[in-house]
Amino acid sequence: MKITDLKCAIIGDYPVVRITTDAGIDGYGQAESPKAYLKPHVLFYRDLILGEDPTNVERVMLKIRRMGAFKPWGSAVSAIEVALWDIAGKASGLPIYKLLGGKIRDKVRVYNGAIRFPMRDQSPQAYAENIAQMKERPENFSIIKQGIAFHSQMVNDLPNFFYSDVYTGGRYPNKGLITERGMKHMIACVEAMKAVLGDEVGLALDCGPGFTVPDAVRLAVAMEPYNLMWLEDMITGDYTPYVAADLYREVTSKTTTPIHTGEQIYLRQNFVELIEKKAVNIIGPDPLDIGGLAELKWVAEYADLHGILMAPHGTADGLLGLAALVQVSATLPQNYVAFEYPIGRPDWWYDIIEGLPDPIVKDSHIDVWDKPGLGVTINAKAAKKYLTAGDEDFFD
Ligand SMILES: [Mg+2]
Repeated sequence: MKITDLKCAIIGDYPVVRITTDAGIDGYGQAESPKAYLKPHVLFYRDLILGEDPTNVERVMLKIRRMGAFKPWGSAVSAIEVALWDIAGKASGLPIYKLLGGKIRDKVRVYNGAIRFPMRDQSPQAYAENIAQMKERPENFSIIKQGIAFHSQMVNDLPNFFYSDVYTGGRYPNKGLITERGMKHMIACVEAMKAVLGDEVGLALDCGPGFTVPDAVRLAVAMEPYNLMWLEDMITGDYTPYVAADLYREVTSKTTTPIHTGEQIYLRQNFVELIEKKAVNIIGPDPLDIGGLAELKWVAEYADLHGILMAPHGTADGLLGLAALVQVSATLPQNYVAFEYPIGRPDWWYDIIEGLPDPIVKDSHIDVWDKPGLGVTINAKAAKKYLTAGDEDFFD
């Protein structure tokens, strides 16, 4: 079998990858939204993979993996990798999880990091009400993640939250020493959320990036009585093109609160220091940023050897990304905690993707399905009307 084309369409803000073959089998992959700018980046790899056998996934990846980088520049490579596995699965009549070594669980736990309700302000009462709405969701999530500090509007809305100017707009990296008032406010918000969740639902906090080491230690120690699931990305994280393992190690060694990072990191090599130094307790690579499913699986195995847990990122990965997360998470070792459940935005995504269970999440878990490849596909007829100008031939 040979690859005959690599295409990319922007469907509802998500770059969607389609690889076609001379056997009439095609495969799909997806990158996070909103990233229409990735289309030329995906197509950059086209000439490098044409004519290759897509079922030799690793050999194809060797040709393109070097030309990628930390988020968002690893997502094109990652989406292509997923599409290759989709083809390999369909060609063999097996779900991707079988090709990755087989599943060790029949259902995968997910956590809520994507289903959100508007917050009226940044008060502890508003945090309590907001988390109560999430707790009432029919998915019955056993872990909910909430944004605080630099990963929330707290920085903008709470006067004197930290000792620096507040920059708004774009992805400007706010960073600085947090005031006593800011620290007390975060603790009050956590106290209010825990009063709602009790010990029934785990609470994780997405915090940064932007913390200094002393503040990260102060917050983590202050959180110890609340038994949080984890504190995520305090120092580096989303759109940070480096790891800072030594700084994380300073924090992790001084607290019993689990420390988490890794969603922006590309390739296994960039996890080595984080894992070998035991710089964090939990890592959260995103299969659509790390370099794909096999890359994530390798990192999970290596983390497990070092006593580090896995909670993969996925909030904006869309419904093809959801299928990819289900496939790989079924195969991860017992250091697996849960993956971040992505939803399709807008709602019409649920009309154009076929093969998902209904309901998708039952009691915070998704049953692992057995259909070949990703096990879900795009209904071309239904999806056509959502194609952007210039993408009309995507399904041809
Ligand atoms: Mg995060």
